[in-house]
Amino acid sequence: MAENENPATAANSNAATETPLLSVKHLRKAYGDHEVLKDISFDVPRGKVFVLLGPSGSGKSTLIRCLNGLETIQGGTIEFKGRPVSGTEKEWRKLRTEIGMVFQSYDLFPNLTVAQNILLGPTKVQKRDKSEVEPQMDRLLADVQLSEYRNAYPRELSGGQKQRIAIVRALTMNPELMLFDEVTASLDPEMVREVLELMLRLAKEHMTMIVVTHEMEFARRVADTVLFLENGVILERQSGEDFFTHPATDRARSFLDSMS
Ligand code: ADP
Ligand code: MG
Repeated sequence: MAENENPATAANSNAATETPLLSVKHLRKAYGDHEVLKDISFDVPRGKVFVLLGPSGSGKSTLIRCLNGLETIQGGTIEFKGRPVSGTEKEWRKLRTEIGMVFQSYDLFPNLTVAQNILLGPTKVQKRDKSEVEPQMDRLLADVQLSEYRNAYPRELSGGQKQRIAIVRALTMNPELMLFDEVTASLDPEMVREVLELMLRLAKEHMTMIVVTHEMEFARRVADTVLFLENGVILERQSGEDFFTHPATDRARSFLDSMS
């Protein structure tokens, strides 16, 4: 909220009237003849958590990659803060720094220390001063109890630690939207929790997030909205509460049964 905004106006500007942070309209994505996403539309208001669920191959990862401009699209529009995501390369580079993304495989540079990995984006891409970024990095590392690994190399970290560093690295860019694609899928069970807890905390701090996950307990706790995908279409769009207590379709019901 702008500082000079008067409280009466602010109270009226609820999520329904605000421009959504992300707006997807009639998105189509195909690989050759294979249509992977068919007429996908949804809006993500600021501060909300959307969880994408659906069977393997339903198009979740493809959708996430489209949102981050990593894929060309065959139809429809994706707007972030009212600006098209599929703009020129230059526009896109700026936009991408505002959308953080973490994948299943921790993509830290093995030849750089934790600190060097984290500082790379803010200093090289965002051209921020190292002296300004470092205190922020140190705060975030302390938050995730990894300060002592500041000068360690990725190989010295566990999978769960690497994923938390990958998340910290994305957060140090001050993103307004975070995309998570199965970030705990390749972790040992005992490391899953520490990563999920970090994501739960981000949700509590009102980070806008789109999350693909197989962790149903977590999904249930974190989801404001669930989008259930099958064969590239949104089969259900429900509040997290409704989806998990009474899914509307047999497909979603059997999906939930298969996950429990
Ligand atoms: P999910 O993440 O839900 O498991 P994906 O988005 O990975 O699903 O895949 C959706 C469909 O798109 C699958 O049929 C998959 O085989 C296909 N697909 C994904 N990536 C590619 C690609 N680079 N080239 C061709 N087909 C792809
Ligand atoms: Mg996937």
